[in-house]
Amino acid sequence: MNITEVRVKLTEERRNRLQAFCSITIDNDFVVRDLKVIEGTRGAFVAMPSRKLTDKCKKCGCKNYLRAKYCNDCGAQLDENRAESNDRGRFKLYADTAHPINSECRDEIEKKVLSAFEEEVEKSRQPGYKPPKYDEPDDMGDGHGDDDEDNNNNDEDSELDDKGEFGTGIFS
Ligand SMILES: [Zn+2]
Repeated sequence: MNITEVRVKLTEERRNRLQAFCSITIDNDFVVRDLKVIEGTRGAFVAMPSRKLTDKCKKCGCKNYLRAKYCNDCGAQLDENRAESNDRGRFKLYADTAHPINSECRDEIEKKVLSAFEEEVEKSRQPGYKPPKYDEPDDMGDGHGDDDEDNNNNDEDSELDDKGEFGTGIFS
């Protein structure tokens, strides 16, 4: 697999741990969007695109995010701790929508994305810098802004999970 292009959009407030959104092009043929560069405790890492997991309200059947305290539809109180937890006792709230299944591929993506990220940071320091066009994922403005720290922790967490057990949990 050759990564033939990486696009990087730095986040405006890089004081948060979320540093950038990226897209990668594979073999000039296929684009994967919404990878994230996150500042972790041991340096920057790349998080794969993911979606928030949901489950159905027992009362009305409406779908809610696993972190929701009340049903979006009928308002029933939901058990905040209903998400499955992983072997380190952290809740599994996100699932990757695209990800490598071996460490060579993961390393390749991480190397290319992080070097493109560093180039973009360098460029952004030049006068007259114009950030590339990139529409950010929808769920950035869903009112979970003050939840950022948790989300990022979770991303880091899911990255660590992936390192330990590739390919598990995708269809759960
Ligand atoms: Zn409900």
